[in-house]
Amino acid sequence: MRNCILCDKNPADKTGSHIVPHFLTKRIDNEVGSHARDKELGFRITQDTTESYFGSAVLPEKLEEVYGEVTEEIIENNNIDGIVDNYFCTNCENRFGEFENEYAKSLTKSTSLNKNYVSEKRPFLGFLFWTSIIWRLSIQDDSGFKLKPQEEKKLGRILNKYLVLNIKELTFDKNDSDLSDIGYKIVRSPKFSDKFSTWLHCSPYYERPYSLIIDEYLVFLYFKKSHLKGMVQDFYGSEEFKSQAIFNTPFTDENIFGIEHEDYKIISQNIALFGARKRIENLSWKLDMIHQRLGGKGKQMYPKYKSEIMKRITNSEEVLAKKGTTEEYIKIIIETINELQNT
Ligand SMILES: [Zn+2]
Repeated sequence: MRNCILCDKNPADKTGSHIVPHFLTKRIDNEVGSHARDKELGFRITQDTTESYFGSAVLPEKLEEVYGEVTEEIIENNNIDGIVDNYFCTNCENRFGEFENEYAKSLTKSTSLNKNYVSEKRPFLGFLFWTSIIWRLSIQDDSGFKLKPQEEKKLGRILNKYLVLNIKELTFDKNDSDLSDIGYKIVRSPKFSDKFSTWLHCSPYYERPYSLIIDEYLVFLYFKKSHLKGMVQDFYGSEEFKSQAIFNTPFTDENIFGIEHEDYKIISQNIALFGARKRIENLSWKLDMIHQRLGGKGKQMYPKYKSEIMKRITNSEEVLAKKGTTEEYIKIIIETINELQNT
């Protein structure tokens, strides 16, 4: 058994570890108002594809409402995400758990809209909670999110040094150079998750700051304070809120900028559009590969063929009926090519 990735001392004996704490994923993953098994409903968009997963008992209407058309790709890629075995030892898992339990208490505290409010008075707690999630996403295989190697190491060092089993023992070293230039901002749409679907989405395109959506929270992690003045990277239309959010350091209480549900909805729509575009690009790429394997001229499938195939796949009753399979795709592709070649 390999050693625990955090402490690198004990064997990584823990199974069923959540990369993102369960109290958040159960809000993201489940159909609104349902915490039952097989009702998970989640999303993950990576650089190349939109991946998503859902429990077998989620209603088809709900799926359609969320995904629009339900494609074979969605069904094929369906796997319950974010639970890993043998990454950590039991002791480190308990250290993560302590911070998750403490931070979870802030969920029900009072909030404000269109301004910053203090979400956690105890310094360092929020910082360690959010960076523990970001670090775990980074070390998880195929999470679609990766910190630069030296940044991943730095966060690992900080977490291993300061995560305690009992929150009362939490202290920090003001002279620790690892803590001197790092900080984060949080934007939140309070109680959005009680009514609507939310996202777990970490884009590989944003590094300064690293930007993530975790449930109703938008998290921005800065490895250098100078990035506060750097180039604007508008994360799905959240820039105006991010710019107003207070920059939290490890040594301060945690401030959050509250936004209206309508504002989160716009950001959410932008993510969905991005996902749809990625899926179309992916299908287009696959068709180009088929074209090349069949010995076609050039690198791309002839536009006439490609647009007709894509139109038919989108309109296919089989796919719409959620019976879409690879066979159905192949059937459409072969039929279309045959037809067009004989006209
Ligand atoms: Zn450990």
